[in-house]
Amino acid sequence: MSDAVLVSARGAGRWLRGHPWIFATDLLGSPGDRAGVVAVRERNGRPLGWALYSPASQIALRLLDRDAGATIDAGWWRARIAAAIERRAALATRATAHRLVHGEGDALPSLVVDRYDRWLVVQFMSAGLETCRGAVVDALRDLAEPAGILARNDAALRAKEQLPLGVELLDGSVPREIEVTEHGVRYLAAPWDGQKTGAFLDQRENRVAVGAVARGRALDCFAYHGSFALHLAGGAREVTALDSSGPALERARANAALNGFTNLTTVEADAFEWLREAERRRERFDTIALDPPAFAKNKPSLPAAVRGYTEVNLRAMRLLAPGGMLFTASCSFHLGRPMFLDMLQQAAQDSGRRLALRAFTGQPSDHPEVLGIPETGYIKGAMLEALE
Ligand code: SAH
Repeated sequence: MSDAVLVSARGAGRWLRGHPWIFATDLLGSPGDRAGVVAVRERNGRPLGWALYSPASQIALRLLDRDAGATIDAGWWRARIAAAIERRAALATRATAHRLVHGEGDALPSLVVDRYDRWLVVQFMSAGLETCRGAVVDALRDLAEPAGILARNDAALRAKEQLPLGVELLDGSVPREIEVTEHGVRYLAAPWDGQKTGAFLDQRENRVAVGAVARGRALDCFAYHGSFALHLAGGAREVTALDSSGPALERARANAALNGFTNLTTVEADAFEWLREAERRRERFDTIALDPPAFAKNKPSLPAAVRGYTEVNLRAMRLLAPGGMLFTASCSFHLGRPMFLDMLQQAAQDSGRRLALRAFTGQPSDHPEVLGIPETGYIKGAMLEALE
């Protein structure tokens, strides 16, 4: 596209404050219905830089480069992706599965790239980015030399960009299961049909933190493939991994076997009901991980979500043995840090327990949350110790 896209002063202001999005309501005139890389100018003609343009999305422009003199070509993509990979260089020895590109967090808007050992799983989350697919895949092939690249373009967000949903093999071949290591723990990722890109890489450091305090009788509530449970199993006498999904727990059992853990059992149940029953049975746990799915999918669902979070947290708190540790998390973007802490305070009060906040955590280093770009962060975690 040769003509520049004109934006309002308010739109330009967002970029100047460091946020990479300009909304459709801040476009002046219609830039047409073809997605792609566009030059952006203010109404007075002042050049603002280059962006990905998505004609159907409310997020019309995603900033690529503030330098109007830049050329967004294969070399540009290669340099940006190389910088993102370089930031993770130290990680590879500790975790063979980690995120290589965290979209806006790496100044590569709407692009997600996760590494699972020798394979890559990518997500193209905007129409503008889709037009650069060739350059992105070439750069990844050159820089990471993967045995295969899979696109998990089945994420629902793509519908807002009027992009088709589906899973596509882009390069080489990618197995159904990939064995990876995470700080000494081995597990199977499911790149084709697992949640997200095949595993929840965003809790990696929190799982390690939980492993470090694991002891006695442990519970992994909302366990999925047992990722927290596996880290608990090293230090705890026995671990219960609870989830409502039978197939997820089947993978959790396979993962336990892979590590030679015989102290891990699985329970297929609804967490809300099970926690209530366990409380009635006066069960006690020394270490608990509570990592529910995002209860708040949008703003209107927040009040109900807060009630859900409060409920599971207060139940988990009541199950703690004196001196026990609860690691509790929320991955709802709409539930910000202050609300998360308020919720925990309410849950603690309702539980009747005295709890100390030992650590407040977020995302691992490969999922950078950039100040001023709230959308790059969504995970909050708290390590709570039962004082009595
Ligand atoms: N802790 C995991 C990720 C958890 S994802 C990890 O680090 O990999 C959330 C999980 O909660 C999913 O596996 C889903 O099956 C499960 N889940 C959702 N609702 C549930 C409910 N009401 N009771 C029990 N499990 C539930």
